[in-house]
Amino acid sequence: MGGSTTLRTPFLTRSKADVAIIGAGIIGATIARELSRYKLSTILIDKEADVGWGTTKANTGVIHAGYSEDPHTLRGKLTTPGNRISKQLCEELEVPLKRIGSIVVSLNRKELPVLNKLENYAKILGVTGTRILKKDELHSMVPHLTPKAVYGFYAPTAAIVSPYGLAIALVENAQANGLNVLLQTKVLGLEKKRQGITLNTTSGDVRTDFVINAAGLWADEISAMSGEKEFNIHPRKGEYILFDETIGEITGKIIFPAPTPISKGIAFAPFVEGNYAVGPTDEDIQDKEDLFTSFEGLKKVFNSAEKFFPEIPFKRYMIRNFCGLRAVADENDFIIRPSYNMKGLIHAAGIQSPGLTAAPAIASMVMDILKDQGMKLHPNPHFNPERRTIHRIKDVDYKTKEKLIEGDPRYGHIVCRCETVSEAEVIEAIRRGATTLDGIKFRVRCGMGRCQGGFCTPRVMEILSSELKTPLTKISKRGKGSRLVKGKVWDGSFNV
Ligand SMILES: Cc1cc2nc3c(=O)[nH]c(=O)nc-3n(C[C@H](O)[C@H](O)[C@H](O)COP(=O)(O)OP(=O)(O)OC[C@H]3O[C@@H](n4cnc5c(N)ncnc54)[C@H](O)[C@@H]3O)c2cc1C
Repeated sequence: MGGSTTLRTPFLTRSKADVAIIGAGIIGATIARELSRYKLSTILIDKEADVGWGTTKANTGVIHAGYSEDPHTLRGKLTTPGNRISKQLCEELEVPLKRIGSIVVSLNRKELPVLNKLENYAKILGVTGTRILKKDELHSMVPHLTPKAVYGFYAPTAAIVSPYGLAIALVENAQANGLNVLLQTKVLGLEKKRQGITLNTTSGDVRTDFVINAAGLWADEISAMSGEKEFNIHPRKGEYILFDETIGEITGKIIFPAPTPISKGIAFAPFVEGNYAVGPTDEDIQDKEDLFTSFEGLKKVFNSAEKFFPEIPFKRYMIRNFCGLRAVADENDFIIRPSYNMKGLIHAAGIQSPGLTAAPAIASMVMDILKDQGMKLHPNPHFNPERRTIHRIKDVDYKTKEKLIEGDPRYGHIVCRCETVSEAEVIEAIRRGATTLDGIKFRVRCGMGRCQGGFCTPRVMEILSSELKTPLTKISKRGKGSRLVKGKVWDGSFNV
């Protein structure tokens, strides 16, 4: 397959690639970007209409310091290196990463041994700068915290990032370096051939030498396509409440409670864009598509918010609830290894938390496996590690605003009032691959603010329709099954 396709590639009949990656979440995206350093033809396939729409779009967005997992597990071993690599990665891709640090707070003295255990993990795993905080220092670092808080465990290297923003940037950069992307395409089966593997997809067949299984919650189904299911994955639901940025600074740090055996607990995390999220809960469920929030779940989140920050009037600032599903494998660890059944198939599966943080280290482990399996890696002489972000009219100084508007007056047309997004930004998001309302939302934030798209939705739909040369009736929220309008009820005229 020659040349580079765009995110809109809808169909292929029969195609050939050196490597096919199933899943364009943060894991598939990071691996794709790593592979684009080499002279290879790589294809990234996802069943959704855009990049990062699985678990990657609904999580806390924390780049963990790396102290919270058992050092004997892959989750433990890959988090600290992932945290370290993320800094350079985000600089190259112009993705904002804020190293604001995290604090695990204990509300009673009995929890101190838990904090000591975390400090011990940090030592073993090489997490730098961590320390236990006593009450005075804790409260001076987190002013609105409940007076009941007695100790904290501080990790200055923890950071925040936009998880979907990073996935989009990785894919944009990999595409510029030769990656092919095939969206709205479901992988239905794998066939072992004398040479390589054929993927049967809803868009046709792809012949390839290597397949990377980065299919998130469905990675066990992909493993079953090799002849036998090699592991099981079940969803663990996490519900959140999102607060408007006008809530002000609740805390400049990421705050965790003392962890439970299965979760890091309900956290308070500022998002890089300025909102606050409180969550997630942890509930093992069966249905991989159950993204419903519940009264019980949100009550837990809300109670926790009030318990830790009793002074903050949370109710006034709630703008939305959402939930994400962790892909938990039976062994409760990442599964990163070649398939036992099918030569050329490599699993990057069971990537539950902290998968966003570990992604760069996971990608580098997958590269080592590919080398071991005989893949020839010749550097791509045209590889450019850098990618430019979309200019945000909201974030630039007055002089730059003036210059941008002078160059393109559409920077002066504000489409989304809550998030101050201009028409030029929406058009640039479409130029880079957005085809849906959510595609615009995750690239430039139209619809992320207080009114949740009440004002900007019709305007964004019109721009999508005009730029994509598609009737309004075909514009959707997130691809198949989510069209927004059926037709006009009135053509605007009074002629009868
Ligand atoms: C509530 C919650 C909070 C979290 N918080 C954090 C955090 O703060 N920090 C952190 O480091 N990690 C966190 N995580 C973990 C992190 O979000 C995940 O580890 C990461 O997003 C997993 O990425 P992925 O690429 O493996 O999966 P996904 O993002 O789910 O991507 C898999 C992709 O595969 C596609 N796919 C599946 N089957 C097929 C098929 N047959 N054909 C084609 N495409 C297919 C899907 O459409 C999907 O896009 C959290 C997770 C949750 C749920």
